Amino acid sequence: MAYTWEPKWELFEVNIDGIRFKTCKDRITGLIACPICLHAASRCLGETPPQSYVYENSFFYSVEDLINHMKNYHLGELRKKLEKLITKMSEEEA
Ligand SMILES: [Zn+2]
Repeated sequence: MAYTWEPKWELFEVNIDGIRFKTCKDRITGLIACPICLHAASRCLGETPPQSYVYENSFFYSVEDLINHMKNYHLGELRKKLEKLITKMSEEEA
């Protein structure tokens, strides 16, 4: 029989270095989920799940790891998008 991990999500509040947000934490393994990848708002904050959403499984053992993931992965994505936009805008100006 294959082992399947069924997370028991509970609300977890991150409060570190002035960064505060809520996400899900698995009661059994203690793994903390990335609130963006997992869409924590619908998964454990009781909000309606979005119609289309690219869910990703990103779980971390420590808050530090989660913060690093968010900085590198999500902020990196955002920065790329902004840079593209800025490049586009400056091209249009020229
Ligand atoms: Zn993430």
